[in-house]
Amino acid sequence: MTLIRAVVLSPVPGLFHYSLPNELQAVARPGSRLRLPFGRSSREGFLVDFKGEEKPGLKAVAEVLPEELSLPPDLLELTSWAADYYFAPWGDVLMAAVPSGVGKGRARKKKAPEEDEARLRPDSPAPASTHLPTDEQAAAIAALDQALAAGGYSTLLLEGVTGSGKTEVYLRAAERAIQAGGQVLVLVPEIALSPQLETRFASRFPGRVAVLHSRQTDRERREAWLRTRRGEAAVVLGVRAAVFAPLPNLKLVVVDEEHEPSYKQMEGFRYHARDLAVKRAQLAGAVALLGSATPSLESRANAIRERYQLLRLTRRVDSRPLPDVRLVDMRDRTVRQRSTLLSEPLLEAMEEKLGLGEQIILFLNRRGFSSTMQCRACGEICKCPRCDVPLTVHRNPGEMRCHYCDFRMPEPTVCPACQSIEIKLAGAGTQKVESELGRLFPDFPIVRMDLDTTRGRTSHADLLGEFADRRAQILLGTQMVAKGHDFPGVTLVGVILADVGLYIPDFRASERTWQLLTQVSGRAGRGSQPGTVLLQTYFPDHPAVRAALVTGSEAFAELELAERTLFHYPPAVRLVSLRLSGKDETEVRTAAEEIAGRAAAHPEADKVGRLGPAPAALARLRNRFRYHLLLRSGDLRALRAMTRDLAQAGTGGRRAVRLEVDVDPVETL
Ligand code: ADP
Ligand code: ZN
Ligand code: ZN
Repeated sequence: MTLIRAVVLSPVPGLFHYSLPNELQAVARPGSRLRLPFGRSSREGFLVDFKGEEKPGLKAVAEVLPEELSLPPDLLELTSWAADYYFAPWGDVLMAAVPSGVGKGRARKKKAPEEDEARLRPDSPAPASTHLPTDEQAAAIAALDQALAAGGYSTLLLEGVTGSGKTEVYLRAAERAIQAGGQVLVLVPEIALSPQLETRFASRFPGRVAVLHSRQTDRERREAWLRTRRGEAAVVLGVRAAVFAPLPNLKLVVVDEEHEPSYKQMEGFRYHARDLAVKRAQLAGAVALLGSATPSLESRANAIRERYQLLRLTRRVDSRPLPDVRLVDMRDRTVRQRSTLLSEPLLEAMEEKLGLGEQIILFLNRRGFSSTMQCRACGEICKCPRCDVPLTVHRNPGEMRCHYCDFRMPEPTVCPACQSIEIKLAGAGTQKVESELGRLFPDFPIVRMDLDTTRGRTSHADLLGEFADRRAQILLGTQMVAKGHDFPGVTLVGVILADVGLYIPDFRASERTWQLLTQVSGRAGRGSQPGTVLLQTYFPDHPAVRAALVTGSEAFAELELAERTLFHYPPAVRLVSLRLSGKDETEVRTAAEEIAGRAAAHPEADKVGRLGPAPAALARLRNRFRYHLLLRSGDLRALRAMTRDLAQAGTGGRRAVRLEVDVDPVETL
């Protein structure tokens, strides 16, 4: 009798043993998708290996599902590695990796490729133009050629200033990989913000691109998954979870904008898609290509240690100049005349560009009308009843909203505490800027792009299309407008407040600010006319703000890496965040203290630094009190040993307290 071990699609940890009936043996192999009796019902799972053991009450595999629903070997291995690395049950990882509905029912017949192309948006008519590569592009392509020809794993970091033509390098590398009979995985931070990238891949590889993203219906996702699994798609383009796409013949993984925090899954099974992309390339013997104008300090450190090969594009294509970036010191009252939000230098520059028929991007990383409402008479701040955060004022209709739990209530006209009518709004958001623009530029339509205007399935594409077609000259928005967009008509970028985010209590606040400012600046001057950028700030001397004035990332990275080393933060050390939450604050605090006690008594205690336990910066969320404890060490083995033991001990039986382990956290709030 053949005995197997299987991982079951359920959060119950561990492997399960089954017998495999003779008639199923010919079709079963590691990675096969199985239907398994489980408890009193049945579940699906995957065959891990043939090392099952004879046990009383051993049950038999009910069914081996069709081969096209199985996992390729490197993917089975990747999910197993991820489960171990992130301290998550393997079943949880697989549930995140394999979209729901993939195994349901029978696979449908093949779909004609035209159907998929029809799905691609017509709002970008980019032809399959091939540019003659610049010298720097040619050098990068040659290095990629060499890596691909060598076969086997390697990672290359492509640091290219904004507008240097990184996408062209991705496309050429993809061409080579496909010519060699391979498949290509392309990860992007958010599909709705990358229509140009999608169009360029689709026109270069017509009918051979499958797209995987979170706004798809189950059926769309399932079709894309199956096309990928069958090897029909040469290129799979997707967001974070696409790192688990079932490509049987992976040769190249591209991670565009590799520094983006959205590659980190922040809830449930927490993983970093960029890091898993590199691991996956290792397991598949493929080449990983990480691209960015503002590489993460983690990737830069890997390049310095020569784990990654660094490729650089230091100039824009067609000898176009990088934008001229200037600061506007908002402390100076004379710049605030017609408006407190839009300085005279910015208004004058806007008037000039609007007169010339050119386009403008305005960036403010704060949505809503105002971020706080405070009573001048008694000082009361209007807060969320469920979370320890101020409510944001939204207008038309006037409403107070919690940006964390979505609590809503009508905007009060008097102070809820003392009934005073003296109410002060502070911290302008995009809605306030929009109304200010309406007052100052009544004849110019404005496209506003933030989470509130992009809830619909096609709203991103509609708004970006309106701006791309030049039906509007002004695009205003949050970080959504800072991403990889290539609008040649934009000659002015205005940053309404460069300081938003600088003082968030997170060790990456500076890095993130520098990245956003550099990225948004890079939207200016990408066409035939040069660009200007005006950064309004109250902190003109802050290193992250100053770094946005400098071309290239060396200066900032050098400074910041030194700080991280000094203060023991990544990439100088590795970090694990242990988060506790519960409805009873005393219980949460006690559980946190107990865990800290266990950490202090752990055999590896002298090798692992510990911060906390302390209330999280967001001390209460959805009525749950939150505490955290940070573990950090340069000794990964010691850090993991301690984390494993602490995770295993959990909250020591305090069932009302939840413990979450976040390995390599992206935010430590
Ligand atoms: P990045 O991603 O580096 O900011 P893109 O890949 O979006 O830049 O390229 C910027 C623009 O330059 C695009 O419109 C692209 O078609 C164009 N481009 C790319 N390579 C070349 C080249 N070698 N010559 C001329 N134009 C190019
Ligand atoms: Zn009051
Ligand atoms: Zn709330």
